[in-house]
Amino acid sequence: MPTHSQAQRENMDMLKIKEILVPGYKRVIEAIDQNAGLHSFIAIHDTTLGPALGGARIYPYANPKAALEDVLRLAKGMTYKSALSECGLGGGKSVIIADPHKDKTDSLLLAFGEAIHSLKGDYITAEDVGSSPEDMMIIRRSTPYVTALPTNQSSGDPSHFTAWGVFKGMQAVAQKLWHNKSLRNKRILIQGLGHVGSKLAALLFWEGADLILSDIDLKQMHGLAHLYGAKIVMPADSYSTPCDIFSPCAMGGILNDKTIPQLKCRAIVGSANNQLGTPEHGFLLMKSGILYAPDYIVNSGGLINVSVELDPLGYDPKASRDRVDHIYDRMLSIFHKSEKEHKSTSQVADEIAEYNLQNKVGMRAKPIIFK
Ligand code: NAD
Repeated sequence: MPTHSQAQRENMDMLKIKEILVPGYKRVIEAIDQNAGLHSFIAIHDTTLGPALGGARIYPYANPKAALEDVLRLAKGMTYKSALSECGLGGGKSVIIADPHKDKTDSLLLAFGEAIHSLKGDYITAEDVGSSPEDMMIIRRSTPYVTALPTNQSSGDPSHFTAWGVFKGMQAVAQKLWHNKSLRNKRILIQGLGHVGSKLAALLFWEGADLILSDIDLKQMHGLAHLYGAKIVMPADSYSTPCDIFSPCAMGGILNDKTIPQLKCRAIVGSANNQLGTPEHGFLLMKSGILYAPDYIVNSGGLINVSVELDPLGYDPKASRDRVDHIYDRMLSIFHKSEKEHKSTSQVADEIAEYNLQNKVGMRAKPIIFK
């Protein structure tokens, strides 16, 4: 395996890094290496509480503008998620404009690692849509600022912990709405049965819930429905199907003017990032009598798990599970505050995150040692 410096020397001449000034962001770069086929953006939104951590998304964006918009939105979301989970991290994200099924090569990933390395640890990467733990191993050859590697010292695939966090969020919703945290016999519709949704379905099956499953991957949907004795609904009907809890575990932006009026659920608790079309949709849900569990708290289990990997004592899955369990308490206190102050749950979550940032709540005490 080449050392960091060797990999750096091979790629350095080809890698072009351009600074982009974006108000409100600590640092944004565009990194291009034409030989390696790399066109990427890395956004560091905030490092008040610790270095910025966020996944590397590999996606065939229509154009660089769309990629830049996405990375900025996602990086800011990571700041809020980290601040609320008090895990001593800041917010950042990276995107690579490429088709992960066709364009992903070792040289592309190595060049991308060089771009991360140029930020000297202010940004730490992890897997995301289009990237895998195996890709992280390749990036690791160019830079140590990588987490969630498929090794014994690392936290690995975060989706087990993300699914567990969504489950804890659902228990909090059940406690709030039905005064009992059991999800037994609750009708729960999961939209998206990928890494997180499929694991959530397993947890809910053993809890005794009545599952309704939906996915554009019909084979996956039918396979899991058979396994768990679940009903299925076609993706187009997933919003209008009556259920107790609707669980978006596929894409963002799905709670909007078009979908909210169709919903026939009591609560929304899912892993998808950026579920609200706009902040106003949080108020619309409240007015519609639907309890919304803010996405970036519900889905923080994966981030919390990765943060445990950065602890001085190293990764411990039990410590990670125990920290993810706190999602239950966090959610209940947000529901309480929302009711008391007549604010949407998403507004309350944003205010707590901003308070933590202003008052340095949960700030990392000692720098992370990367070897
Ligand atoms: P994934 O790609 O493994 O799964 C997504 C699933 O959604 C796929 O099965 C896909 O076929 C399905 N899907 C896509 N469009 C759909 C539609 N219109 N209707 C129904 N199903 C549809 O992704 P994942 O890792 O399971 O993550 C799911 C969501 O949770 C994403 O928004 C992701 O950003 C977010 N998230 C994931 C993690 C994690 O640990 N993996 C952590 C935090 C947030």
